[in-house]
Amino acid sequence: MQQFQSRKVVVIGAGSVGATFCYNLMQTGLANEIVLIDVDRQRAEGEVMDLCHGLAFVPPVQIRTGHYPDCADANLIVLTAGAKQKQGQSRLELVRKNTDIVSSICEEINTYTHESVLVVVTNPVDILTYVAIRKLGWQRGRVMGSGTVLDTSRLRYLLSDHCGMDPRSIHAYVLGEHGDTEFAAWSMAHVGGLKITEYCRTCGRCEFQTEHRRIEEAVRNSAYHIIDYKGATYWAIGLALLRIAEAILRNENSVLTVSTLVAGEYGLRDICLSLPCVVGNNGISSIIQAGLSESEQQALTASANTLKETFAEANTTLTTH
Ligand code: NAD
Repeated sequence: MQQFQSRKVVVIGAGSVGATFCYNLMQTGLANEIVLIDVDRQRAEGEVMDLCHGLAFVPPVQIRTGHYPDCADANLIVLTAGAKQKQGQSRLELVRKNTDIVSSICEEINTYTHESVLVVVTNPVDILTYVAIRKLGWQRGRVMGSGTVLDTSRLRYLLSDHCGMDPRSIHAYVLGEHGDTEFAAWSMAHVGGLKITEYCRTCGRCEFQTEHRRIEEAVRNSAYHIIDYKGATYWAIGLALLRIAEAILRNENSVLTVSTLVAGEYGLRDICLSLPCVVGNNGISSIIQAGLSESEQQALTASANTLKETFAEANTTLTTH
């Protein structure tokens, strides 16, 4: 008989992103306990009540508000707490503010566990994943950022829409910073098993060079457009987080473009950015070392340099573990 495996997920931050992820997760039967923590206790209570009122329609799962001691036996902790950019506020000010929030949350988490897997979502996600890794001092694979899993999904959708094909039959990755310096690694892109350049040559319906630039630009600017239209993004990031949670809780060893600390891979060190990573129940077990084109390698290095500059500019004083 198969033994029942308990799976506990703690979500820190009961805002739009945290609540959407909980809503997705509760429908899968993957977790049997979901705990929501927020500094705004009422907001967390309200979300939990609303989610619990749907429990009659989904597989059994306990959903409740909690406190940091709940992290002690969590299989997965998802960190979505933090401020959003306000009008007139610089990106750097947001970095400083969210660095303080993420640092203090990591101190709390560290009191109760060193064994869980932490996924950082709060923006700027690459900088804050780096902050979390330094603050926690855990094994490096156990802490990752949601990175460009969302951007990669946007790329696959836009390509599928353009080619008239199921996005699940398109394999393509956005690498680097989750932000302005991210890029599509076209040398790794495949449509139905064919290299994308080969597919485009046989299809012949468009000019690949022009179209790939337009699509890459659309991916990069997606969040700006959505935030202009409706103030925040949460549906697709909620599904991207579910995909990461599935890979971890089911020990899938799936390749996902999560943000990871580099230690020599692609010639980069001491910063977090997105690369194709193998993700399972202990977090990231390895990083796929793809043979990027020269221009892609340059774009990746430029992305890493931008992130390092942002981190240095924020002048963050961190105490390492
Ligand atoms: P939101 O304002 O709706 O929710 C943020 C929540 O964090 C609030 O409920 C707030 O009370 C809580 N919070 C703030 N400080 C806290 C603390 N110290 N402890 C516990 N809770 C705290 O914001 P949102 O739309 O849910 O976005 C959350 C974060 O996710 C933002 O930083 C946003 O930029 C980021 N985001 C990232 C991606 C991505 O792909 N990485 C995508 C979308 C949003």
